[in-house]
Amino acid sequence: MIEVKELKKFYGNFEALKGINFSVEKGEIVGFLGPNGAGKTTTMQIITGFMSPSYGEIIIDGEKVDGFKTDLKKKIGYLPENNPIYNDLSVYDYLSFFADLKGLDNKKREIKRVAELTKIEDVIEKKIDTLSKGYKQRVGLAQAILGNPEILILDEPTTGLDPNQIIEIRNLIKELGKEKTVILSTHIMQEVEQTCERVLIINKGQIVADDKLENLKERNGRIILEVDKELPVEFFKNFGEVEKLSETKFIIKSNEDIRKEISKLCYENGILIYELKIEFDDLETTFRKLTSVEV
Ligand code: ATP
Repeated sequence: MIEVKELKKFYGNFEALKGINFSVEKGEIVGFLGPNGAGKTTTMQIITGFMSPSYGEIIIDGEKVDGFKTDLKKKIGYLPENNPIYNDLSVYDYLSFFADLKGLDNKKREIKRVAELTKIEDVIEKKIDTLSKGYKQRVGLAQAILGNPEILILDEPTTGLDPNQIIEIRNLIKELGKEKTVILSTHIMQEVEQTCERVLIINKGQIVADDKLENLKERNGRIILEVDKELPVEFFKNFGEVEKLSETKFIIKSNEDIRKEISKLCYENGILIYELKIEFDDLETTFRKLTSVEV
């Protein structure tokens, strides 16, 4: 389990993280969503021990993260943003270098295992700078899963890939996520929709949403109603907040589907319904509203 407590980070006078809190349970795939500059990379670097926080702490399985210790390296696989791959190394040598860094003793077997999983066996002897972006990203993922860590921290894993490569990498992450705890940062909504069960949205260094994907997909529910008679808003007062769009058209705010109750009320009062539907904000609209982009 990962616990992030009151995390703050200052770059000079600039407060990039403003006291963030969240926790991730074992086995969850969490999407870490936020616009550019929101603080995703900073948070991930602190979780992985690459950077120290200015304030607050990270606790992994009950143990405080304090620098990039070997046992932490074994527990966490990290794919950094713009995956800084050493281009003049062969894929094998690159993985071998990281296997040593992580202190793995069954190196050959482990490289074979991750190469199979990420389907890079065909390019294992090639130099990294000769590979396509998609393959480079696979190599980055292979590095992250060396040693079979329980936790994967993936910073924008599909950035710069073409649509086919994106699908391949997403499927791979989903597959890996069956057994692991995954935090995946992105600013692409579809990525989260297709890969994650839970979503954290960060904006300007603050967590502005922490919820299951299905709940975030159905926010700000509203009933749209048009009838054949002029009615005062008070007519619908039992149903909650009502907005009048015209004399005969209304928006009733509700996350519950109360269309049956509304129909019954109208029927009992001899009112004919022209339109009755329920709508929710989609994830994209919710994201835009929470990160204060004009909708
Ligand atoms: P992106 O999606 O663009 O990668 P992000 O959500 O990962 O963004 P961070 O890279 O964590 O955001 O940056 C958060 C804020 O901190 C940004 O305003 C960024 O300009 C600033 N920042 C990041 N690193 C440094 C640094 N080394 N020195 C000064 N400011 C920094």
